[in-house]
Amino acid sequence: MQGFDYLRPETISELKKDLSNPGARVLAGGTDIVPKMRQGVFSASILVDASRVISLDFIEDQGKEVVIGALTTHQKLTDSALIKNVNPALTAAAESVGCIQTRCRGTLGGNIANASPAADTIPPLLIYDADLLLQSLEGERILPLESFLKGPGETALKPGEFIHSVSFSPLLGSWGSVFLKIGKRSGMAISVVNGTAAIVLDDEGMITNARIALGAVAPTVIRCRETEKSLIGKEPSPELFNNASEICREEITPITDIRSTEEYRIHSAAVIARRALEQAVDQARERKN
Ligand SMILES: Cc1cc2nc3c(=O)[nH]c(=O)nc-3n(C[C@H](O)[C@H](O)[C@H](O)COP(=O)(O)OP(=O)(O)OC[C@H]3O[C@@H](n4cnc5c(N)ncnc54)[C@H](O)[C@@H]3O)c2cc1C
Repeated sequence: MQGFDYLRPETISELKKDLSNPGARVLAGGTDIVPKMRQGVFSASILVDASRVISLDFIEDQGKEVVIGALTTHQKLTDSALIKNVNPALTAAAESVGCIQTRCRGTLGGNIANASPAADTIPPLLIYDADLLLQSLEGERILPLESFLKGPGETALKPGEFIHSVSFSPLLGSWGSVFLKIGKRSGMAISVVNGTAAIVLDDEGMITNARIALGAVAPTVIRCRETEKSLIGKEPSPELFNNASEICREEITPITDIRSTEEYRIHSAAVIARRALEQAVDQARERKN
């Protein structure tokens, strides 16, 4: 492991100042950074440990939006009644991250900034069109999560910037949102493929809004917009969802790696998309009754 300086701010102002040092990078829960440092694939001349900046650890209902601080752990997300109420797919995703130890240390901001194509919390945020609030000593900006993700491990984060929080608007009416994941083991497994679907139904039971995001099938987690379009204005049926899962295959570009093959990922993504859509419709119908 390479040597580095270590700073531990306690306020957002201190965090901004510490991160303005050249070569400084955020350390949150360390569940991605520490293994990477051991493998020699993460380096920073200064590690800025944000874990004591408690004002970045919150989940708030702000009326039109739900806002989650970047330091919120997966376990807090899992336990949050508010998140379960407005985005059950995010609850399921957070619940699926690693084991209890990983969930108690790993943060939402870390999962997003790490920008793994297989990151479990990203699909449920993408289907809610989540925005990120980014801050630095220079000021702040709001960026859609989709634009933040540039490639495997690559983001739009500028030097000195950090994720302050994530926000999204709850869905309205008769809606459902579902997260599904295929991993090598039932616990502690990074996704081979993961996926989230959200559906909104009108009073006649027709689909007015459909959103699908898939992970580990492209350089970043992606929205499958052609698949989504194929569903709008239609009545849910097995044929409709079989057709959607076929379109989905055309929208993804998975690779073969140590976790899986391209062929298996294409097959699994199509299955996950169809099942997530079916389950989201079931949820939406229950909400209607
Ligand atoms: C055993 C094990 C199992 C795992 N299982 C899963 C799994 O099932 N699903 C899954 O998605 N992940 C999994 N992970 C990966 C990891 O736990 C998550 O990605 C976690 O959310 C990372 O958060 P962290 O706070 O530990 O990030 P850190 O390791 O502290 O940081 C990760 C990256 O994000 C940056 N960063 C952190 N916070 C911020 C911020 N606020 N602003 C800007 N940059 C920031 C850091 O500089 C670094 O580049 C697993 C890891 C382990 C060790």
